[in-house]
Amino acid sequence: MDTLSHALWGYGLFGYKRYPWTAIFFGAMPDLISFGLFLLMNVATGNWYFGKPSLASIPDWLFLTYSVGHSFIICLPIIYCGYRFNRALAMAMLAWPFHIVLDFPFHSKAFFATPIFWPISDFKIDGIPWTHWYIWYPNILFLSILLIYRFKKR
Ligand SMILES: [Zn+2]
Repeated sequence: MDTLSHALWGYGLFGYKRYPWTAIFFGAMPDLISFGLFLLMNVATGNWYFGKPSLASIPDWLFLTYSVGHSFIICLPIIYCGYRFNRALAMAMLAWPFHIVLDFPFHSKAFFATPIFWPISDFKIDGIPWTHWYIWYPNILFLSILLIYRFKKR
């Protein structure tokens, strides 16, 4: 899913009680440490253009940071440590694995399939890209319902 949707899902599901910014951050973080950094670097060097970058233009480090951000093997132990330290904070951090759950079925092998068990296994599925309208519009619909519900409950 797109990074803004991830951030809002994180807020709506895990940040509506406490630590809203933590949930927003962890909801978006897997994409921020990969494509977000790449975008910043391209803007800084004047190489930015609108649209999906070609696989050939993507640097090697991005594949690594993408895998780190999109693996349960990495995120669950970190959240467990957070849980030992502060339960409410760990609740907000659950936006991170939810990001992975959302990306897993909605990325194809052609462009950054989600490596949920990296670095132990290279297991990935050939999902349906989230850019298809029949994924994208329901995403907006359900996200809107969730956020309106949270807003009305306040
Ligand atoms: Zn992602």
